[in-house]
Amino acid sequence: RSKDSGGGAYHSYEPQLHMAAEERRVLEIALRSAVENGEMHLNYQPVVLADSGTLRGFEALLRWTHPEFGVVSPAKFVPLAEDARLIPAIGEWVLRTACQEAAKWDSDIRVAVNVSPEQLHSPAFATMVAQALAQSGLPAERLELEVTESVFMREGTQAIHVLEKVLELGVKLSLDDFGTGYSSLGYLAHTRFSTIKIDRSFVQGASKGTKEAIAIIRAVVALADSLGMATTAEGVETEEEHHMVQRLGCTKVQGYYFGRPLPVQEARALAIRASSGETAAA
Ligand code: C2E
Ligand code: MG
Ligand code: MG
Ligand code: MG
Repeated sequence: RSKDSGGGAYHSYEPQLHMAAEERRVLEIALRSAVENGEMHLNYQPVVLADSGTLRGFEALLRWTHPEFGVVSPAKFVPLAEDARLIPAIGEWVLRTACQEAAKWDSDIRVAVNVSPEQLHSPAFATMVAQALAQSGLPAERLELEVTESVFMREGTQAIHVLEKVLELGVKLSLDDFGTGYSSLGYLAHTRFSTIKIDRSFVQGASKGTKEAIAIIRAVVALADSLGMATTAEGVETEEEHHMVQRLGCTKVQGYYFGRPLPVQEARALAIRASSGETAAA
């Protein structure tokens, strides 16, 4: 482009577009060595029963702290890693680390690990899960994998096949961010999910009194009930939101109101307390 063309408006946005592409490129290069440089770790967010507040499990959430850029949000780097085909390797590290850490909790509390659609491309995924369980000693029933509806659009039958193999190991599946993708409900009949996670957007809508959001949560809870699945309301931030989703019949809740994603030592301490019969911290 010519250096002196255009007016102020041109100059005000074009460098930003350039920066965005440059930032992506720089982050992508940094991501390639993030795991081997020890820049990644996992935090664990509590999932509790809606009625009693009893701790049921933790969701492992990936954290990246780069020495120069600082903390980079997974909302930013996970999609980038997916596009750059770095997810199979990063996802494997997440799964192995979560299994190893949870195996040391001295508790039967479960750990949920997010899985990107790309990971289900490969039939070797199920073998890798089996290895992660065997090497860590984590019982399969304590592992849950979270997938989103997009898995069924993009990978279709291959993903269903890989998920079947994972289920055969005794691992649980949950359907993440439900209601935000373009789902055909057909796959719910074919794939055995233990839990449907209702996206935070519906929780927020319902607590604001939005009729449609309330109707959707009711319908999802009824659907889950009749299919023998549990429901988790995501992103519950206030007492009002908790009471709303509890009234609507959600089985489990997760959100800042009950606990932020925690460093592994704190998660372990909560897990031990919950297993020894003390009331889990809300
Ligand atoms: P997700 O799986 O739906 O995870 C829940 C996200 O909501 C997390 O964001 C969590 O910190 C956030 N959250 C929990 N409670 C609240 C709340 O009360 N209010 C609000 N505003 N947010 C809440 P996080 O950790 O930034 O992760 C974002 C997304 O990145 C995850 O959404 C997931 O899709 C992806 N992700 C995170 N870790 C991994 C991973 O290890 N592998 C893969 N493939 N994706 C991951
Ligand atoms: Mg999740
Ligand atoms: Mg989610
Ligand atoms: Mg969500």
